[in-house]
Amino acid sequence: MTRTSRGKGRIVLDRVASALWYVPGSFALARLLGPRYPLRCVLFHDIADRESAFTNGLGVTITRRAFEAALKFLTRYYTPVSLQDVIAGTDGRGLPARPVLVTFDDAYASVGEFGAALCFQYGVPAVFFVNGACLDNRQLALDNLICYVANIRGLGAVKSAAIAAVGRDDFELCSLKQVFSRLLPTMSLSAKAAFRRALTAATKRDERDLAAEAGLHISTQQLCSLKTFNIEIGNHTYSHTHCRSLSLGDFAHEVDRNKAILETISGSRVRSFSVPYGSSADLTAELTTHLHQTGHEVIFLAESSAGSFRSCASILDRTSINTGADAALFSKVEVLPRLRTIRKGLGFVSGGGRHEKKSKVISECPVSERTFSDEVADSDEVHI
Ligand SMILES: [Zn+2]
Repeated sequence: MTRTSRGKGRIVLDRVASALWYVPGSFALARLLGPRYPLRCVLFHDIADRESAFTNGLGVTITRRAFEAALKFLTRYYTPVSLQDVIAGTDGRGLPARPVLVTFDDAYASVGEFGAALCFQYGVPAVFFVNGACLDNRQLALDNLICYVANIRGLGAVKSAAIAAVGRDDFELCSLKQVFSRLLPTMSLSAKAAFRRALTAATKRDERDLAAEAGLHISTQQLCSLKTFNIEIGNHTYSHTHCRSLSLGDFAHEVDRNKAILETISGSRVRSFSVPYGSSADLTAELTTHLHQTGHEVIFLAESSAGSFRSCASILDRTSINTGADAALFSKVEVLPRLRTIRKGLGFVSGGGRHEKKSKVISECPVSERTFSDEVADSDEVHI
């Protein structure tokens, strides 16, 4: 099947799944697709009425109105639970009927500015996964810097920076999606640092000034206040990096350091980890072991399947949400995850298993030869 026909198939499937919302007994119908769905986990990123040059193209933005509509949908048809509830009821039997856990990734300031307060208003606890490097807008996340350069200077400037970083030009970059799904996953930390420097040079700006001007990320002061809104802080690596290319030594820099920083600021224990970009291909056996040994009790992915409690109760999957429409939410939360789980069960998804380290780092493997998860390739969204 070609990618174009897969894309059309997804659109049709999504429309059919959304149409189910208008059929009487829609939740019962969804259960026919797969009754076992012990915990829905949903994922938000930035809440803003307009995308900026730093976010346009990432697919991470939901408007305030849509976000509030999504909260209304979740509180009307589900029972919001906290991470503590999930940990206490790890096999699903201890949770209330139709539980849902709300999460946020990527340290966006909008969560501190009004997302957390709105969650609190609707009685929704949440987990907020933060990258320490972005706190107080000291640095832009690499994803936002790439996005900015693509929007301001064009994709060609992004490719030029990539060539300068890896020292080769034998790869194609025709879209932002290719940057995130093909280029970044296999870059080493040092290659990413070189990429960042080259991208910053393309902006002709000081990166710190650019980060301050963008004001995308949460401050330490805002982070401290989140506890009062029943928002728990989680680890999302220090620099928001793909974990498949991390060595054991890198874990101290990206995982342990970030946990320590967040615990110092928040005064609370960090006990959960969200895998940047959400792919199970990044959750290697080494990383899983390290996370469990360092006090991370729950690990989150974002592959939008219904198998919330995967092979073990400490690894949960999430569905990314960027809509407030009831039918679309029903499709995204209730129907499509079940269909993906069925598809995975039938073996149609060959994406990297979490105990496989599939890809070599970029310095060892030409871009054209690299594989990437079908789960990512099948999606129109850039999962951040
Ligand atoms: Zn992220």
